[in-house]
Amino acid sequence: MTQPLASDVGVGAVADRVVAAVQSALRDHRGPAALHQPEFRGAEWTYVKDCLDSGWVSSVGAYVDRFERDLERVTGVAHAVAASTGTAALHVCMRLAGVERGDEVLVPTLTFVATANAVSYTGAVPHFVEADASNLGVDPEALERHLQAVARVEDGMCRNVTTGATIRALVITHLLGLPCDLDALTALAERWCLVLIEDAAEALGTYWHGVHVGGRGRLAALSFNGNKIVTTGGGGAILTNDPALAARAKHLTTTAKQPHAWAFDHDEVAYNYRLPNLNAALGCAQLERLDDMIARKRVLAARYVEAFAGVQGVRVLAEPQGARSNAWLNGILLDDPADRDPTLEALAAAGLMGRPLWTLMHRLPMHAACPRASLTMAEALEARVITLPSSACLADGG
Ligand SMILES: *Cc1c(COP(=O)(O)O)cnc(C)c1O
Repeated sequence: MTQPLASDVGVGAVADRVVAAVQSALRDHRGPAALHQPEFRGAEWTYVKDCLDSGWVSSVGAYVDRFERDLERVTGVAHAVAASTGTAALHVCMRLAGVERGDEVLVPTLTFVATANAVSYTGAVPHFVEADASNLGVDPEALERHLQAVARVEDGMCRNVTTGATIRALVITHLLGLPCDLDALTALAERWCLVLIEDAAEALGTYWHGVHVGGRGRLAALSFNGNKIVTTGGGGAILTNDPALAARAKHLTTTAKQPHAWAFDHDEVAYNYRLPNLNAALGCAQLERLDDMIARKRVLAARYVEAFAGVQGVRVLAEPQGARSNAWLNGILLDDPADRDPTLEALAAAGLMGRPLWTLMHRLPMHAACPRASLTMAEALEARVITLPSSACLADGG
């Protein structure tokens, strides 16, 4: 028999310790454990049946209005406009922020591709910025340094002096349910004359210093895709405190049709980004269960913190000071990037779902020529973070 190399023992050890800690957090849950599993334990069947019975399954109906009012109540943001997907909602946010062909928009390199796609749809260019190790969001200090190096404010506009383009907006993503540092980023956006847009697709139910995310930026987007904390099957919403922007969001998502009893008049090229009433019915029922969902997910998150305490070589991405996370997905940070893939394999072998973060945006082929800041922290996080099974039902045992 050949002796295993010392390095193999080291690598195997971290993977084994992670599997053992996850099993302990899940109280030896049997069977496959998904990252996030939707649940239909409330009025979903009733509302969807009611919607079918009413015949109003498509682009207008009472559930769409009700879902929008429910979202306003849950988030505390003055206006919610439903959309067909989170990506569509982000696209509309870009349009409403005045993003135009040739502009640049600051986008975290550590995000889902939809954030960058929404910028590209407008003909603008994503300009990638650095991640914050404490919350995976945008690092305000690194961004400040970068802007001081490449940008100037002239006539109330932010100009990239190296490319000549106007930097119109800053999108920040609240990742895994952890909020970005909204105080620092709001101040930065004001200083640099940038429209702040929050990609809150993963953060319904997340608070920063007692205030729900999505209302600090001029605009925010939510997603109700099947993997999110509340699902409509597929769907999204635009949030804003500005009534004029909300009216414009409604107009752009509904083919710019002029309200009229019978005439079909449209006053600009717009989109069919409406959320069907059938999907909104599902969403209304899901929102009624949001508090319960978050409470159970937070129990699971606390179990992960406990199970990983004292585990060498790994730490849980815990809720930062001042934040209240919806605990959508739990993540761990490995000290050594060499442990990531063996750990993912060990988790899979144990029937436990684990995933790396997304490939960073600046590495994707369509972004090869995009401007970027120094992205070393994002690269370190990409190499070292693993997300773990986080379905609320996993908190029910034990
Ligand atoms: C899910 C998600 C989106 C887009 O949502 P869809 O509804 O799938 O279009 C955008 N940004 C982030 C960070 C997401 O996680």
